[in-house]
Formats: sequence, C-alpha cells, structure tokens
Amino acid sequence: MPKYVYDFTEGNKDLKDLLGGKGANLAEMTNLGLPVPAGFTITTEACRSFLTDGGVPEGLWDEVEAHLRDMETGMGKRLGAAGDPLLVSVRSGAKFSMPGMMETVLNIGLNDESVHGLAEQAGDERFAWDSYRRLIQMFGRTVLGIEGDRFEDAIDDAKRTKGVDSDLDLGAADFQHLVEIYKGIVKDATGEEFPSDPRSQMRMAVEAVFNSWNAPRAVVYRRQERIPADLGTAVNIVAMVFGNLGMDSGTGVAFTRDPGSGQQGVYGDYLQNAQGEDVVAGIRNTLPLQELEKIDPASYRQLIGIMETLENHYRDLCDIEFTIERGKLWMLQTRVGKRTAGAAFRIATQLADQGLIDLDEAVERVSGDQLAQLMFPRFAIHADLRPIAKGMNASPGAAVGKAVFSSARAEELSGQGEDVILVRRETTPDDLAGMIAARGVLTSRGGKTSHAAVVARGMGKTCVCGAERLEVDAKERRFTGPGGVVVEEGDVISIDGTTGEVYLGEVPVMASPVVEYFEGTGGTGDALVQAVHRIMTHADERRRMAVRANADTPEDAARARRFGAQGIGLCRTEHMFLGERRQLVEDLILAVSPEERQAALDALEPLQKSDFVGILAAMDGLPVTIRLIDPPLHEFLPDLTALSVKVALAGDDAADRDRKLLAAVKRLHEQNPMLGLRGVRLGLVIPGLFAMQVRAIAQAAVERRAAGGDPRAEIMIPLVSAVQELEGVRDETERILERAGVEALIGTMIEVPRAALTAGQIAEAARFFSFGTNDLTQMTWGFSRDDVEAAFFSRYLELGIFGVSPFESIDRAGVGRLMTIAVEEGRKTRPDLKIGICGEHGGDPESVRFCHEIGLDYVSCSPFRVPVARLEAGRAALSGGGSDSR
Ligand code: ADP
Ligand code: MG
Ligand code: MG
Repeated sequence: MPKYVYDFTEGNKDLKDLLGGKGANLAEMTNLGLPVPAGFTITTEACRSFLTDGGVPEGLWDEVEAHLRDMETGMGKRLGAAGDPLLVSVRSGAKFSMPGMMETVLNIGLNDESVHGLAEQAGDERFAWDSYRRLIQMFGRTVLGIEGDRFEDAIDDAKRTKGVDSDLDLGAADFQHLVEIYKGIVKDATGEEFPSDPRSQMRMAVEAVFNSWNAPRAVVYRRQERIPADLGTAVNIVAMVFGNLGMDSGTGVAFTRDPGSGQQGVYGDYLQNAQGEDVVAGIRNTLPLQELEKIDPASYRQLIGIMETLENHYRDLCDIEFTIERGKLWMLQTRVGKRTAGAAFRIATQLADQGLIDLDEAVERVSGDQLAQLMFPRFAIHADLRPIAKGMNASPGAAVGKAVFSSARAEELSGQGEDVILVRRETTPDDLAGMIAARGVLTSRGGKTSHAAVVARGMGKTCVCGAERLEVDAKERRFTGPGGVVVEEGDVISIDGTTGEVYLGEVPVMASPVVEYFEGTGGTGDALVQAVHRIMTHADERRRMAVRANADTPEDAARARRFGAQGIGLCRTEHMFLGERRQLVEDLILAVSPEERQAALDALEPLQKSDFVGILAAMDGLPVTIRLIDPPLHEFLPDLTALSVKVALAGDDAADRDRKLLAAVKRLHEQNPMLGLRGVRLGLVIPGLFAMQVRAIAQAAVERRAAGGDPRAEIMIPLVSAVQELEGVRDETERILERAGVEALIGTMIEVPRAALTAGQIAEAARFFSFGTNDLTQMTWGFSRDDVEAAFFSRYLELGIFGVSPFESIDRAGVGRLMTIAVEEGRKTRPDLKIGICGEHGGDPESVRFCHEIGLDYVSCSPFRVPVARLEAGRAALSGGGSDSR
C-alpha cells in the first residue's frame, strides 16, 4: 500500500509533486530547524485516488490517525479535548500555487466543550469564542458550501448593534452570541447541526480540500495558467498557533526582497491580534512590517534572520507567512515568490553578484515571456493615475483610443484615421473586422481563453478581457465603471494588456528602455537594462542554435540585425508584386504569347533585383534566405465580385482589359486557395516566373560583390510535397546561378506533411530545410488558420482539446513529430543538411526549446522577437529539459 502521509520531518522541498508546494516547503523549513508548528502532509496521490474513486483510499484514515497521535503525544494535548484542546488547520497545497483557488480551514477541534478549555488555557474568553466563530464560518463556507456573505452579514450586524467599526471592539460575549447565530445559519442552510466531533470536522475538511481541486474556479484557473488538470492537491494538517491572542500576538506576510523591483529590503505587512487570512482579507489596515521592530523587537530580529536563512537556502526571493503568538514567532509558509518581469531580471543578476547562483542559473531564472513583456511600450504611470478597472492581462501592450462598441463603428472610425478601442461584453467571430481595425480590445467577460483573448494574441493586439466591474451596454454605446463612471462612444480610454488595467483618458505611452537598449539608442545606466544586457550576453555565449529574422525589407533587416539576428531565415518576395507592380503581374497573367509573357517578366526583374540589393546590403556577410513567390496569383488580381460588377455595369462599353482580367480571375478562382496553385506549383506551371526571380537574386549578388560587399543569398522553394517538384526547379536555378557566376544554397521549406514524411528523398535535392510551421500546422490539423482561430478556437481551449493554440506553440505530438521525422530522415540522406524554422513559432519560447531539442541549426522569427529567441535558445542549451517557471 502506498504511503499517504508524511510528517514534516520526513519531507523536503524537492517533493512538490507528492507533497505540494506548501507541504514540501513546510518540511524543508522544519528540517532547517526553523520554528514551524508540528504537522504532516497527506499526499497528492491520496487526492488523485479520492477523485478517481469518489472516496478516500483504504488505510488513509489509519495513517492519519497514527500521525495525529504522534503529534498529540509531542504536544501533550489531544485534538479537541475538552480540558486543553489541540487545534489544527487543514490546508490545501498543490504543486503549483493557485492563490485563493482552494481551501483552508483553521481552528479545527473546537466545539461547545473545548471552547471552554481553550479559554481557560489561554486565560482569554474573547479569544476562544473568536476562534470558535471563525471555525464555523470557514467550515461553513468551504466544507458545507454556505454563502460566505451570510456569516459576514451577521458579524456586520453584531458590530452595528454594538455601534463599533472594528472586530477588535467586539468582546467575548459578542463572539459567543455570534457562535449561536452561526450555528443557526448552518442548521438553516444544511438542515444539520454543525459537526461537533473534532475527528469528523477534520475528515470532512480533508475531503473538502480534495474536492476543491475540481471547483469551477480552480478548473478555470488551471486552464489559464496551463497547469495540468490531473495533479491533485496535497492536504496539510498543522497544529494551530494563535495570532489572535491579544496585542502581543499577530500575523503577517513578507517578501525577502521587493517583488516589484527586485530591491533588497524589508517588504511586508503585519496585523496585530489577528488570525491568518485577516491580513489578505483587508478587514483592518495592516502595518508595514518595519513597525514590528518597535512592537516586538525580538521577534522582528528573529524574523529578519530567518528571511536571510531562507534566501541563502533557496537562493532566490522567497515570500513567507508568519504568526506571532504572545511573543513567540512561528513560520507558516514559504515559497519562491512570484515577481514582475523586470524584477526577475534584476533579481537574477543580483543573486549572481552575491555569489548565490552563477550566470548559467541566472539565465535559467528568467524567461522569454518575461523579456517580451519588457519590450512592449508601456504607459508612463504616475502616482495620481488610478485605473478604473482591472481585468485579465490577455495580450500585452499599451493601447490608447476612442471607445467604440461595435465592430462596424470600429472599422468606420479607424477608416477615418482615428485610434479606437473596441469595447464589448465579449467578442464573437462577427467582431473580427473590428478587432483588426482597433488598437486594442477590452471585454467585461471571459478569461484568457475567451474569443477576444485568443484572437487578440494571435494578432499581437493589445487586449484586456474579463474586466468584470465594467457594465457594457453596446446598444446604448457606453459602459459604466465602478463608482458610476460612464464612458460613452468616442471617449478616450487607455488599456494596458500587460497588467490588465483600464484607465480613463489618454495615458502617455513611453518606449521600453529595453527596446531602446537593443536598438542602441537608449542609455545603459538603467539597472534593468544592465541586468538584461548581462543575461543576454551570457545566453548568447551558451546557445547552440543561431537566431535569424523573418524580414522582407532593408529596414526590417537592419533592425533585426541590431536586435542580434544572424541572418534572414525568411525573406518573402510576394510584397514585391504589390502596389504599382500589380499592373505588371496582371500583364504576366494576361499574356497570351511567350513574347508578351517575357516582356512582363523583363519589366519585373529589375524591380525585384533592386529589392534584393537592399536586403543583401543590410545583411552583408550573413545568410539571407529568399523564398520564391508563394501565394496564389489571384491574390494580385482584382476581387472577383467587384470586377464582375464593374464589367456588368459597363455592359458593351466595358474595357477590353477588364473583360480579359475578369476571364483570368475566373480561371484562377479556387475554392481552397491555400491548397491550390501556389508555391512550387506556380513555378512549375507559369513558365519563366521562378527563373526571373532567381536571375534577379543572382544579379543582385553580382552587383553587391562589385560594390565590395559579401552577399550570401540562399534560395528557398516553398510548398514542396515531392522531391520531383523540387528537382526541376533546382536544376533550372542552378543553371541560372552558374551562368551568373554566383553560388547560393538551394533548399526547400518543409510545410506540407508529405514533405516531412519523405524528407529523406527531398534532402537529395535540397541543401537546407526550413520548417514553415504555419502551413505545416494548418495542413497537419486540417485547420484553415484564418477561419478557425476566430470561429471556434476559444471553444476548443475551453474543452481542453489543446492547452494552447497550435499556431502559438508547436504541437509537439503531431506537428512536432513530423518535424522530428524530417530532421532524422533528412540528415540520414545529407548529414550536413542545414535545418531551421521560419514559421511564427520561431519566436515562441516553448517552440524554440523544442527546436533545440530536435537539433535544428537555427530559428527565425520576426525582428522584434529575435531577443526572445536568443534568450530561449540559451536557456534551452543550459537546461535541456522542460521549463518549470510557474
Ligand atoms: P493560502 O494558501 O490561501 O495562503 P493557507 O493554508 O496558507 O492558505 O492558510 C490561510 C491562512 O491561515 C494563512 O494566513 C496561514 O498563515 C494561516 N494558517 C494556516 N495554518 C495555520 C496554523 N496552523 N496556525 C495559524 N495560522 C495558520
Ligand atoms: Mg498561505
Ligand atoms: Mg507557407
């Protein structure tokens, strides 16, 4: 039979899977010799078994009984005994902290008899009755599921009747009376008496904690934070210590350094004559922790010493909960504390300076997501700026604009050059056009997997969702905020997608100092910038993979280079067919004779060449992978409906060119253009098109060389499914390059599942592979990205079909498996095959890690994500394993 219960002396901090974070760290503190009350932990395994079988596993209560007896012997008290009762708390604690999501019950063991024993032992009637009413209240709410307000209302009544404001002014008799009222509430709500047997209280509380794992809000929270649903929670049973035993007692929380800035110092809150949850519940104003130095200098000094011990031991920022019982300090919780992105970088380098960690570990202590947060522009927040509401930080960034309440209005105003914020209760696929038109999106309903959140993240658009205190009235075109603020259509608001805050009016936006540092335009004096610099430098030293950028213009290429890109992994050529050049593309498509076609191509060639010259110059000396034209040609032609209408209206007078165009548009029309005539298929079907592009690349290289440059073009063929497609194009490309005296690698994208599965054959004709994971994901899942993300991805996320969109992060099991096959088989054919990735996943932290693991040579991503990819490539090289940064 498995061991379900561990005494605090038996566990340690590395047993979080089994004991949960709270239990593992209580054990660790116990073993460090810190003053932790006696206690033991029921494992997550017991919880999992309970949730599967619908009852506690066999033998669990016997084991609990044995540990309880040891505890009773050690303390010389018996649980709930009338004369001198031992009281315990029953506390949830999962592997990952889920603040406020699960339950804890204090003061278990009190009943009508033991309350007198407690009063006598403590010499304090008020304290005993206060503890008893707290038990009924917490037990009633969390174990019996009674509306918490019913108890809160009763205590407010008691204060009102007595004419006092604070619970401190209620006396023993008041609390005794409250106990009677509370018992009545329990009877009324459940039809049963409040359970007076201490053991029943304990067992019921344990089962309630198990069950709280599946409470709706916990389920939602886990989904948002991507915490697996099957971990279960541990339960800690801890001897009570009392912060509510008078003014020489109290309870508090503290951080070993500022979680906002990383600054070392004393940060925390303290509340006299109070029990645990009072500090966070905000029932009274807390004191800054420094005040404790005056109130109880001995405990204060001891606490500061313990915080130092913990920092040195955990080698990181810790947060703690403590209680002082009549001058005696007790530690009730610690864990490595959450922090802001900026603090994470600063703390990591501070700890390295202190010699607590080395730079390798400093790099592992931060994440690409945190770096990305630091790179968004932010609001210049000043002291008297107060948000009117706060929602979920669904998609980062800072957006300012006029509030609009419909998609149509968003499009209309943005068409007139206005910045707008689309405000909706929640968004639906119908809001898509409005979301695209808006600077940012604000909703009052839904979490991080709501439609608004998913779609906004996909578009890289700032989004705050689930700002529940806003009452959105789309019909009246306004929303109402707390305190009655009303925002009408056209009023300017500012939303912060990094913090979830919503402001009235225009908040000035300032550039990120971290971006200025990467751009080389900012100062380097800033402590945060210095920390980022050190960590990035070290990550660069450690990473194995190169990082390139996806860039189509000399400006983007130059910026990417400043951000540390080591070349271009994807230069798209299709925008080179837009604008004024559209006309030439039309000529190409309308050409009936080879001469006409050649004339159109000849006109395009010098234009293409000049584009390439600029990009090769910006990336001089570094590889530039140029992808030949990829999208279907009709993307460059007029819209079918518009053109049909135009020709029909003109009747007999319709221009000859329009008629011909219409015929061409009809001929080229496709039901599923993404699966139609595009990529290498175009190259094979439209004679001369690819050849023209290759000549333009070759001429550009020749020109760069003549100018003393070091051009390193690579030519990439898109959408190949079979080696036979590639062979023809490769041969022609080689001939052209040879004639021009230019050398360039010729390779292919791997973005069709068949290409991945036949990579061994394809590598015969390709010198390099680049995974086009956008298409590869579309085709592997059979999803049309442009359609499905807005249509039903939020529902899929809710249903848990995937934890994160496969377009955001590589789907390891499916798409990832195809990639793994392609890498293995490609390299079997050609051991020096160069392999990279150029889909948007190249800038996603988890995906970068995956690319490292399967042995890619480089990742390529948008210029702005290059630093994120550099950092994550470094982290992946250091740890090798999965990230565990929650
Ligand atoms: P949470 O995970 O929500 O912080 P906890 O289990 O830590 O819940 O408990 C809630 C509050 O009760 C905390 O302030 C904690 O310090 C306090 N508390 C828990 N157990 C005891 C105990 N045995 N004695 C005194 N206070 C306790
Ligand atoms: Mg706690
Ligand atoms: Mg593609």
